[in-house]
Amino acid sequence: MPDAAVARRRTVHYLRRARAILRSKLRGRVRWERPLRLRPWQPVSSGDVPERGAWCVLCDWRGERFEGGFHSESAACPRCQSVARDRFLYFCMFQRVPYRRDLRMLETSPRLGRGYRSAMARRVHYLASDYDERAHKADIKLDLTRMALPDASLDLVLTAHVLEHVPDTGAVLSELYRVLRPGGRMLIQVPLTQPVTAPPPEPEFHGDKTPVFWRFGLDFTQRLCKEGFATTLLVTQDFRRRVVERDTTWPEGISGEFDAVAMVNSADPADLTVVADDAVAARGWLRPSYMHSVWECVKPSG
Ligand SMILES: [Zn+2]
Repeated sequence: MPDAAVARRRTVHYLRRARAILRSKLRGRVRWERPLRLRPWQPVSSGDVPERGAWCVLCDWRGERFEGGFHSESAACPRCQSVARDRFLYFCMFQRVPYRRDLRMLETSPRLGRGYRSAMARRVHYLASDYDERAHKADIKLDLTRMALPDASLDLVLTAHVLEHVPDTGAVLSELYRVLRPGGRMLIQVPLTQPVTAPPPEPEFHGDKTPVFWRFGLDFTQRLCKEGFATTLLVTQDFRRRVVERDTTWPEGISGEFDAVAMVNSADPADLTVVADDAVAARGWLRPSYMHSVWECVKPSG
């Protein structure tokens, strides 16, 4: 073959490669979103909490009020779009998980979008996963009952509002136990609606047609302990006070899906650890208090 023909073929080959690379870069850029400016990952001290108004612990937004009413799924932050339950979860993370740049973190089905995920990926070794791609978009698809991750490969797992949508709770918990390193930590958030865990009495679906298999109760703490985790149920100061005093009257009323009266009357105060005081709950709109709880699970070291 003449030299000129060889040179031409090479040029076409390199141009095609360059075009493919450029296309993939452009695709990446279109998907990319400016990272959200997040509050530093460190415990909140009383001096950090404003004296009045609304304050987002995630992005440090301050203003008169959040958007929407007092409900764990509402009270949206105008800057980062976190709702009240997001703020309680990340507040628990800031208070309980010491920051390290080399933290290996998995978050299952994060509710917040790409700006949040980009910001997290700059902070730690961050992986967002999802099983059902209809509901959310995430970095990788992961079946939580058979996770394609090595043993002891994670330092931190955040899993919010996922377990109620999985039929086999035990299969997920044993997988999460396997992939956490000894001493690793997991923060689980599910709707805590009643004293004892049970399937919903009627078929139940969440907004995006995802079926609900379980309504979790206070006994979920014992279930997590059985799996081998050192488990703590984190709540607000207001919720624990109501359990101590058996006070079941909330100014916000009681939302239909929560059996808040039975929970307050049956919970043992010794099983509840206060992580958010009244000032934090007031500024972050973490109310009504029966809607805010997170299970902290530590895999024992030895
Ligand atoms: Zn915010």
